[in-house]
Amino acid sequence: MLDNPLLQYVTDAKGNVASVIIPWSLWEKMEPKVRKLLEVESTPQEITQAAGPLASFDELMQFWDFKYPYSPSVTCPHCSATTADWRNDPSQPFVLTNANIGGLLVFYCRACGTTIRQKHFHKHMAVEHTTPKA
Ligand SMILES: [Zn+2]
Repeated sequence: MLDNPLLQYVTDAKGNVASVIIPWSLWEKMEPKVRKLLEVESTPQEITQAAGPLASFDELMQFWDFKYPYSPSVTCPHCSATTADWRNDPSQPFVLTNANIGGLLVFYCRACGTTIRQKHFHKHMAVEHTTPKA
C-alpha cells in the first residue's frame, strides 16, 4: 500500500505514518465518503441509564414524604412520548439523568432529546421541559 506514487505518506520523527497527502482529483472522489465517516464519528453517543441518578432516585423514594404517592409515569411535553412506568418500560423511552432527594427528577426523552424536569413539591408536582434547538 505504501508504494502507490499518488500517495505521499507523512511520517513523524519515529517513522510512523501520521498523515497522507493525496492528489486533489482523488480527494474529490473520496470526499463524500470521508464526510460520512466524519459524521458517524461526531454523532453523540446513545445516552444510557447511569447508576448515579438511580441511586439518588432510590434515596428520594426512601425519604418520600410528599402528600401524594410517587407516580412513575413520564410524558414528553414536546413529542408526546409517554410511559406509565419509566423504570419498567422495556422500550425505555426515558432516561433518568438527574435526581435529588429534594424532589427533582430529570429525564431525557430518547425520541426527541427533550429534557423533562419533574419538580416534586409538598402538595403537587410541576413539570418543566427544555427542547433541544434544531
Ligand atoms: Zn420527546
